Amino acid sequence: MWIDSHCHLDFIYSKEDLAVLSGRLKVQLIEKIIVPSVSPKNLDRVINLASNHNWCDYALGFHPLFLENVGDADLEILDNCIGQNKPLAIGEIGLDMFSNDQNFNLQETIFVAQLKLAKKHDLPVIMHVRGAIDQVLKNLRRYNVKGGVAHAFNGSTQQASQFIDMGFKLGFGGAMTYARATHLQFLAKTLPLESILLETDAPDIAPEWLEKGEKNSPEQLPKIGQFLAKIKGLKVSELAAIVKDNTYQAFPNLVKLYT
Ligand SMILES: [Zn+2]
Repeated sequence: MWIDSHCHLDFIYSKEDLAVLSGRLKVQLIEKIIVPSVSPKNLDRVINLASNHNWCDYALGFHPLFLENVGDADLEILDNCIGQNKPLAIGEIGLDMFSNDQNFNLQETIFVAQLKLAKKHDLPVIMHVRGAIDQVLKNLRRYNVKGGVAHAFNGSTQQASQFIDMGFKLGFGGAMTYARATHLQFLAKTLPLESILLETDAPDIAPEWLEKGEKNSPEQLPKIGQFLAKIKGLKVSELAAIVKDNTYQAFPNLVKLYT
């Protein structure tokens, strides 16, 4: 069985679509989908998704590129919401220096505040680290959080080792499936399998085989897993079992759906 460790499901599906997806997941051997929130606006949405579907679980946090008008009052709401709802993790949080976002100071302030929440609630974190891996590592060292995942990882081997040494996993998805993605494929091949989680990041980061304009979805996960198994020279079932275990390690509160 597969677990999509990072999917923005609430941005993809209507209620009707979700009913169809529910029926298809077991057939596709997808056990769980982890949905992080991105802003104060979708905290309730991800919580509701998980309460309506036992194959869905969630993390709560504010994404670095969704911080418009986010301030102390929102952090307080987040803190209360975490206390009341017991999410799997704090996420999606992090830093993004790759985009045109000029407000890096705000990103860092909100990131640090959320690392402190992770510490306070004793939860792992789901992190967005685009173009800012060293800055993320610096803050993790300083605030000593429990672990979690650097999602859509695309750094150096040395940066990967630093995450792994601190007890974090690294998320790989559709980006590694492109012929030109030689660095990501090198990382996927050489990093220890025990440190890897699989994700679709749907609706973003479509894998290579989707037509232009075709929507990425968690249903792409098994094929992404097959791609990784080929790179690793492992049987698909072997790889799936190890990656699933990795996901349960990264998120100790994730409830097993099948034994
Ligand atoms: Zn994301």
